[in-house]
Amino acid sequence: MIPELSNGSVLMKDPQRVQEILQSMLKAGSNTLQVISDFDMTLTRFSYNGKRCPTCHNILDNSKAISSECRQKLDHLLEIYYPIEIDTSRSVEEKLPLMVEWWTKAHDLLVEQKIKKDELAEAVRESDAMLREGYELFFDRLHEHSIPLLIFSAGIGDILEEVIRQANVFHPNVKVISNYMDFDESGMLRAFKGELIHIYNKREGALLNTGHFEELRSRCNVLLMGDSLGDLNMADGVQDMKNILKIGFLNDKVEERKKSYLDSYDIVLVNDESLEIPNAVLHHLT
Ligand code: C5P
Ligand code: MG
Repeated sequence: MIPELSNGSVLMKDPQRVQEILQSMLKAGSNTLQVISDFDMTLTRFSYNGKRCPTCHNILDNSKAISSECRQKLDHLLEIYYPIEIDTSRSVEEKLPLMVEWWTKAHDLLVEQKIKKDELAEAVRESDAMLREGYELFFDRLHEHSIPLLIFSAGIGDILEEVIRQANVFHPNVKVISNYMDFDESGMLRAFKGELIHIYNKREGALLNTGHFEELRSRCNVLLMGDSLGDLNMADGVQDMKNILKIGFLNDKVEERKKSYLDSYDIVLVNDESLEIPNAVLHHLT
Protein backbone atom coordinates (compact mmCIF):
# COMPACT_ATOMS: atom_id res chain seq x y z
CA MET A 1 0.00 0.00 0.00
CA ILE A 2 1.10 3.57 -0.63
CA PRO A 3 2.28 4.91 2.78
CA GLU A 4 0.55 8.29 2.32
CA LEU A 5 -2.82 6.51 2.22
CA SER A 6 -2.59 6.13 6.00
CA ASN A 7 -2.55 9.92 6.45
CA GLY A 8 -5.25 11.28 8.75
CA SER A 9 -6.86 13.16 5.86
CA VAL A 10 -7.55 9.96 3.90
CA LEU A 11 -10.88 8.12 4.19
CA MET A 12 -11.72 4.97 2.24
CA LYS A 13 -14.81 2.82 2.40
CA ASP A 14 -13.01 -0.15 0.84
CA PRO A 15 -9.19 0.06 1.09
CA GLN A 16 -8.88 -3.46 -0.30
CA ARG A 17 -10.64 -2.38 -3.50
CA VAL A 18 -8.33 0.65 -3.80
CA GLN A 19 -5.39 -1.71 -3.46
CA GLU A 20 -6.74 -3.96 -6.22
CA ILE A 21 -7.34 -1.06 -8.61
CA LEU A 22 -3.82 0.27 -7.97
CA GLN A 23 -2.30 -3.15 -8.55
CA SER A 24 -4.13 -3.60 -11.82
CA MET A 25 -3.13 -0.09 -12.97
CA LEU A 26 0.49 -0.63 -11.99
CA LYS A 27 0.61 -3.89 -13.92
CA ALA A 28 -0.83 -2.24 -17.04
CA GLY A 29 1.85 0.47 -17.01
CA SER A 30 1.79 4.26 -17.11
CA ASN A 31 1.29 4.33 -20.89
CA THR A 32 -2.28 3.12 -20.26
CA LEU A 33 -3.03 5.92 -17.79
CA GLN A 34 -4.93 9.17 -18.25
CA VAL A 35 -5.91 11.72 -15.62
CA ILE A 36 -9.22 13.57 -15.64
CA SER A 37 -9.54 16.34 -13.09
CA ASP A 38 -11.98 19.02 -12.11
CA PHE A 39 -10.44 22.47 -11.62
CA ASP A 40 -12.09 24.72 -9.02
CA MET A 41 -11.57 23.48 -5.49
CA THR A 42 -9.88 20.31 -6.81
CA LEU A 43 -6.69 21.58 -8.45
CA THR A 44 -7.11 24.91 -6.70
CA ARG A 45 -7.26 25.40 -2.95
CA PHE A 46 -10.55 25.69 -1.11
CA SER A 47 -9.02 27.84 1.62
CA TYR A 48 -5.77 29.38 2.73
CA ASN A 49 -5.08 30.63 6.27
CA GLY A 50 -8.75 30.21 7.09
CA LYS A 51 -9.91 32.34 4.16
CA ARG A 52 -11.87 30.94 1.22
CA CYS A 53 -10.05 30.90 -2.12
CA PRO A 54 -11.81 32.00 -5.31
CA THR A 55 -13.23 29.87 -8.12
CA CYS A 56 -12.69 30.94 -11.77
CA HIS A 57 -15.96 32.85 -11.59
CA ASN A 58 -14.99 34.51 -8.29
CA ILE A 59 -11.64 35.63 -9.77
CA LEU A 60 -13.59 37.67 -12.28
CA ASP A 61 -16.36 38.68 -9.84
CA ASN A 62 -13.74 40.22 -7.52
CA SER A 63 -11.72 41.92 -10.26
CA LYS A 64 -11.49 45.48 -11.54
CA ALA A 65 -13.10 44.31 -14.79
CA ILE A 66 -16.48 44.28 -13.00
CA SER A 67 -18.43 47.27 -11.67
CA SER A 68 -19.22 47.33 -7.95
CA GLU A 69 -22.93 47.13 -8.71
CA CYS A 70 -22.42 43.99 -10.78
CA ARG A 71 -20.15 42.51 -8.08
CA GLN A 72 -22.95 42.93 -5.55
CA LYS A 73 -25.36 41.10 -7.84
CA LEU A 74 -22.88 38.26 -8.43
CA ASP A 75 -22.19 38.00 -4.67
CA HIS A 76 -25.92 37.85 -4.08
CA LEU A 77 -26.24 34.97 -6.57
CA LEU A 78 -23.38 33.15 -4.80
CA GLU A 79 -25.16 33.57 -1.45
CA ILE A 80 -28.35 32.10 -2.88
CA TYR A 81 -27.04 29.28 -5.05
CA TYR A 82 -23.83 27.99 -3.41
CA PRO A 83 -25.74 26.66 -0.36
CA ILE A 84 -28.02 24.85 -2.83
CA GLU A 85 -25.01 23.38 -4.66
CA ILE A 86 -23.74 21.71 -1.46
CA ASP A 87 -27.14 20.91 0.08
CA THR A 88 -27.40 17.17 0.75
CA SER A 89 -31.12 17.32 1.49
CA ARG A 90 -31.98 18.12 -2.13
CA SER A 91 -31.74 15.68 -5.02
CA VAL A 92 -29.71 16.30 -8.17
CA GLU A 93 -33.00 16.52 -10.10
CA GLU A 94 -34.12 19.32 -7.83
CA LYS A 95 -30.78 21.15 -7.94
CA LEU A 96 -30.05 20.86 -11.65
CA PRO A 97 -32.44 23.58 -12.94
CA LEU A 98 -31.30 25.88 -10.12
CA MET A 99 -27.65 25.39 -11.08
CA VAL A 100 -28.48 26.20 -14.73
CA GLU A 101 -30.24 29.31 -13.44
CA TRP A 102 -27.13 30.35 -11.42
CA TRP A 103 -24.67 29.90 -14.27
CA THR A 104 -27.01 31.58 -16.79
CA LYS A 105 -27.68 34.61 -14.59
CA ALA A 106 -23.98 34.99 -13.76
CA HIS A 107 -22.87 34.71 -17.40
CA ASP A 108 -25.53 37.22 -18.49
CA LEU A 109 -24.24 39.68 -15.88
CA LEU A 110 -20.63 39.13 -16.98
CA VAL A 111 -21.52 39.74 -20.64
CA GLU A 112 -23.17 43.06 -19.69
CA GLN A 113 -19.83 44.21 -18.24
CA LYS A 114 -18.08 44.54 -21.61
CA ILE A 115 -15.04 42.73 -20.23
CA LYS A 116 -11.91 43.00 -22.35
CA LYS A 117 -9.87 39.89 -23.16
CA ASP A 118 -6.69 41.63 -22.06
CA GLU A 119 -8.11 42.33 -18.59
CA LEU A 120 -8.17 38.61 -17.70
CA ALA A 121 -4.44 38.15 -17.03
CA GLU A 122 -4.45 41.02 -14.53
CA ALA A 123 -7.61 39.72 -12.85
CA VAL A 124 -5.86 36.38 -12.29
CA ARG A 125 -2.57 37.99 -11.21
CA GLU A 126 -4.32 40.13 -8.61
CA SER A 127 -6.57 37.36 -7.31
CA ASP A 128 -6.13 35.07 -4.31
CA ALA A 129 -6.44 31.95 -6.48
CA MET A 130 -3.94 29.27 -5.52
CA LEU A 131 -3.24 25.87 -6.96
CA ARG A 132 -2.99 23.21 -4.26
CA GLU A 133 0.35 22.57 -2.64
CA GLY A 134 2.39 20.11 -4.71
CA TYR A 135 0.93 21.32 -8.02
CA GLU A 136 4.34 21.64 -9.73
CA LEU A 137 5.14 18.01 -8.99
CA PHE A 138 1.68 16.96 -10.19
CA PHE A 139 1.74 18.80 -13.53
CA ASP A 140 5.44 18.20 -14.16
CA ARG A 141 5.30 14.46 -13.48
CA LEU A 142 2.35 14.00 -15.84
CA HIS A 143 4.19 15.98 -18.51
CA GLU A 144 7.44 14.10 -17.98
CA HIS A 145 5.66 10.74 -18.39
CA SER A 146 3.49 11.99 -21.29
CA ILE A 147 0.32 11.17 -19.37
CA PRO A 148 -2.65 13.14 -20.73
CA LEU A 149 -4.37 15.43 -18.23
CA LEU A 150 -7.89 16.53 -19.05
CA ILE A 151 -9.07 19.43 -16.91
CA PHE A 152 -12.86 19.35 -17.03
CA SER A 153 -14.34 22.46 -15.50
CA ALA A 154 -17.68 24.15 -15.11
CA GLY A 155 -15.66 27.30 -14.43
CA ILE A 156 -14.38 29.68 -17.12
CA GLY A 157 -11.83 28.20 -19.53
CA ASP A 158 -10.08 31.49 -20.31
CA ILE A 159 -9.52 32.17 -16.59
CA LEU A 160 -8.51 28.60 -15.80
CA GLU A 161 -5.92 28.60 -18.60
CA GLU A 162 -4.53 31.87 -17.33
CA VAL A 163 -4.15 30.44 -13.80
CA ILE A 164 -2.13 27.45 -15.01
CA ARG A 165 -0.19 29.56 -17.52
CA GLN A 166 0.87 32.03 -14.80
CA ALA A 167 1.91 29.05 -12.65
CA ASN A 168 4.05 27.76 -15.58
CA VAL A 169 2.32 24.38 -15.70
CA PHE A 170 0.24 24.65 -18.88
CA HIS A 171 2.20 21.84 -20.53
CA PRO A 172 1.30 20.34 -23.95
CA ASN A 173 -0.21 17.20 -22.33
CA VAL A 174 -2.96 19.35 -20.77
CA LYS A 175 -6.34 19.65 -22.46
CA VAL A 176 -9.18 21.77 -21.09
CA ILE A 177 -12.93 21.34 -21.49
CA SER A 178 -14.75 24.30 -19.97
CA ASN A 179 -16.92 27.34 -20.64
CA TYR A 180 -14.99 29.61 -23.00
CA MET A 181 -15.64 33.29 -23.57
CA ASP A 182 -16.51 34.59 -27.00
CA PHE A 183 -14.87 37.95 -27.74
CA ASP A 184 -15.77 40.27 -30.63
CA GLU A 185 -13.21 41.78 -33.05
CA SER A 186 -12.40 44.53 -30.57
CA GLY A 187 -11.62 41.95 -27.85
CA MET A 188 -14.80 42.56 -25.86
CA LEU A 189 -16.80 39.74 -24.25
CA ARG A 190 -20.04 39.24 -26.18
CA ALA A 191 -21.15 35.74 -25.09
CA PHE A 192 -20.01 32.34 -23.89
CA LYS A 193 -19.26 29.73 -26.54
CA GLY A 194 -21.06 26.42 -27.06
CA GLU A 195 -23.08 24.39 -24.61
CA LEU A 196 -23.02 25.57 -21.01
CA ILE A 197 -21.13 23.25 -18.65
CA HIS A 198 -22.41 23.35 -15.08
CA ILE A 199 -21.68 20.99 -12.20
CA TYR A 200 -24.39 18.50 -13.10
CA ASN A 201 -23.94 18.02 -16.84
CA LYS A 202 -20.33 16.87 -17.06
CA ARG A 203 -21.63 13.57 -18.46
CA GLU A 204 -23.16 15.39 -21.44
CA GLY A 205 -20.01 17.49 -21.78
CA ALA A 206 -17.90 14.32 -21.86
CA LEU A 207 -20.12 12.70 -24.47
CA LEU A 208 -19.83 15.79 -26.71
CA ASN A 209 -16.04 15.36 -26.76
CA THR A 210 -15.85 11.88 -28.26
CA GLY A 211 -12.90 12.87 -30.47
CA HIS A 212 -10.69 13.51 -27.46
CA PHE A 213 -11.57 10.19 -25.83
CA GLU A 214 -11.25 8.33 -29.13
CA GLU A 215 -7.65 9.55 -29.42
CA LEU A 216 -6.95 8.24 -25.92
CA ARG A 217 -8.56 4.86 -26.49
CA SER A 218 -5.43 2.96 -25.41
CA ARG A 219 -5.42 4.88 -22.11
CA CYS A 220 -7.88 2.50 -20.43
CA ASN A 221 -6.92 3.35 -16.83
CA VAL A 222 -8.27 6.57 -15.38
CA LEU A 223 -7.36 8.59 -12.33
CA LEU A 224 -10.33 10.88 -11.69
CA MET A 225 -10.17 13.84 -9.29
CA GLY A 226 -13.05 16.03 -8.20
CA ASP A 227 -14.68 17.89 -5.35
CA SER A 228 -18.32 17.62 -6.32
CA LEU A 229 -20.49 14.55 -6.86
CA GLY A 230 -21.15 15.93 -10.36
CA ASP A 231 -17.45 15.41 -11.13
CA LEU A 232 -17.95 11.64 -10.99
CA ASN A 233 -19.37 11.75 -14.53
CA MET A 234 -16.31 13.39 -16.10
CA ALA A 235 -15.00 10.02 -17.33
CA ASP A 236 -18.28 8.95 -18.95
CA GLY A 237 -16.81 9.51 -22.41
CA VAL A 238 -13.79 7.25 -21.84
CA GLN A 239 -13.77 4.36 -24.28
CA ASP A 240 -12.79 0.79 -23.33
CA MET A 241 -12.21 1.76 -19.70
CA LYS A 242 -10.56 -0.92 -17.59
CA ASN A 243 -10.00 0.68 -14.19
CA ILE A 244 -10.95 3.97 -12.62
CA LEU A 245 -9.64 5.32 -9.32
CA LYS A 246 -11.68 8.23 -8.01
CA ILE A 247 -10.19 10.71 -5.58
CA GLY A 248 -12.60 13.23 -4.05
CA PHE A 249 -11.80 16.36 -2.06
CA LEU A 250 -14.48 16.89 0.57
CA ASN A 251 -13.97 20.57 1.30
CA ASP A 252 -17.16 21.83 2.87
CA LYS A 253 -20.04 20.47 4.99
CA VAL A 254 -17.82 17.52 5.84
CA GLU A 255 -19.97 15.63 8.35
CA GLU A 256 -23.16 15.97 6.33
CA ARG A 257 -21.58 14.86 3.08
CA LYS A 258 -19.06 12.27 4.27
CA LYS A 259 -21.27 9.25 3.68
CA SER A 260 -22.26 10.18 0.15
CA TYR A 261 -18.62 10.94 -0.76
CA LEU A 262 -17.42 7.63 0.72
CA ASP A 263 -20.12 5.82 -1.25
CA SER A 264 -19.00 7.31 -4.56
CA TYR A 265 -15.29 8.22 -4.35
CA ASP A 266 -12.69 5.47 -3.71
CA ILE A 267 -10.48 7.86 -1.74
CA VAL A 268 -11.97 10.85 0.12
CA LEU A 269 -9.67 13.63 1.31
CA VAL A 270 -10.78 15.77 4.23
CA ASN A 271 -9.01 18.93 5.40
CA ASP A 272 -6.32 18.42 2.83
CA GLU A 273 -5.31 21.47 0.81
CA SER A 274 -2.51 19.63 -0.98
CA LEU A 275 -2.05 17.27 -3.91
CA GLU A 276 0.03 14.94 -1.73
CA ILE A 277 -2.25 11.94 -2.24
CA PRO A 278 -2.69 12.27 -6.04
CA ASN A 279 1.09 12.79 -6.23
CA ALA A 280 1.76 9.68 -4.14
CA VAL A 281 -0.58 7.65 -6.37
CA LEU A 282 1.14 8.96 -9.51
CA HIS A 283 4.56 8.29 -8.01
CA HIS A 284 3.45 4.71 -7.39
CA LEU A 285 2.13 4.29 -10.93
CA THR A 286 5.00 5.90 -12.87
O1 C5P B 1 -14.09 23.75 -12.05
P1 C5P B 1 -15.43 23.40 -11.45
O2 C5P B 1 -16.22 22.48 -12.32
O3 C5P B 1 -15.29 22.93 -10.05
O4 C5P B 1 -16.23 24.81 -11.38
C1 C5P B 1 -17.48 24.93 -10.82
C2 C5P B 1 -17.51 25.74 -9.54
O5 C5P B 1 -17.71 27.12 -9.83
C3 C5P B 1 -18.70 25.31 -8.70
O6 C5P B 1 -18.30 24.49 -7.63
C4 C5P B 1 -19.35 26.61 -8.23
O7 C5P B 1 -19.40 26.74 -6.82
C5 C5P B 1 -18.50 27.71 -8.82
N1 C5P B 1 -19.31 28.82 -9.40
C6 C5P B 1 -19.06 30.12 -9.01
N2 C5P B 1 -19.78 31.15 -9.56
C7 C5P B 1 -20.73 30.91 -10.50
C8 C5P B 1 -20.96 29.59 -10.92
C9 C5P B 1 -20.22 28.57 -10.35
O8 C5P B 1 -18.20 30.35 -8.16
N3 C5P B 1 -21.40 31.91 -11.02
MG1 MG C 1 -14.89 21.88 -8.40
